Amino acid sequence: MTRSLNGRVAVVTGAGSGIGRACALRLAEDAAKIAIWDINGDGALETAKLIEAAGGTAIAITADCSDKAAIKAAADETRAKLGPIAILVNNAGIAPFNPFLDTDDDLFDKVIRINLRGPWLVTKECFPDMLGAGWGRVINITSSSVQTGSPAQAHYVSSKGGLMGMTKALALEHAASGVTFNIVPPGFIDTPMLRAAPVDVETFAASLPMKRVGKPEDIAAAVAYLASEEASYITGQTISTNGGRYMGSH
Ligand code: NAP
Repeated sequence: MTRSLNGRVAVVTGAGSGIGRACALRLAEDAAKIAIWDINGDGALETAKLIEAAGGTAIAITADCSDKAAIKAAADETRAKLGPIAILVNNAGIAPFNPFLDTDDDLFDKVIRINLRGPWLVTKECFPDMLGAGWGRVINITSSSVQTGSPAQAHYVSSKGGLMGMTKALALEHAASGVTFNIVPPGFIDTPMLRAAPVDVETFAASLPMKRVGKPEDIAAAVAYLASEEASYITGQTISTNGGRYMGSH
């Protein structure tokens, strides 16, 4: 454990499960105060309890992170209980599998609303706190599927590709602000989302270079680094945390 985040307030969306939960626990270990925003209120509470049991500080807020009013309410509660927001991990997302020709337009709109418009709105709400402080970290969880493509996921890959582009655009627009914007695209990580996907996880794991799927903590480690003081000269970048599945430069 390091104390490097020293009471800074971190919002982690979708932290009631999987990767988000691991990020919340890890940032709490680094002494951030954590606001868990998740549509799954029970999961959010469970994560808060885990953080408190480990000696950290956390609040759980039930919020649909694609709903502007809910986001505003969550941010107001976070500021009132913990203080201004310094770190944002846009992690909440959904990942349905549907062949392109079977994907109706409403499902496409839903995936874009949650995975792309959601981070847009959450970032708009949280970023002014960071700008005002002259210090901030925005870390966007995309997907290795943006780098490789993924069958039956054109809607999902479109949303995560949009999030990748948004991250780079904001990184450049605000490069001199003290706020960094970076990307973590997970490979295959063992979470409830992966277990619900139409893949045989064990067979798939054997096909990967490291012969295993990743752990949520693998993603949390990359997120913790990007959130740290040491990462202050890194913006608009990608830490591909995928066990060697994809080795390209973006
Ligand atoms: P997960 O276990 O399903 O956790 C996602 C959490 O986000 C759940 O608690 C979920 O609640 C919540 N959520 C969904 N929609 C929300 C919304 N509108 N507002 C607030 N919270 C919402 O999934 P995960 O595997 O940890 O995935 C986390 C992120 O990593 C996602 O963005 C995903 O696309 C990305 N990712 C995951 C993998 C992987 O292999 N696991 C690979 C690449 C990228 P409900 O359970 O109630 O829906």
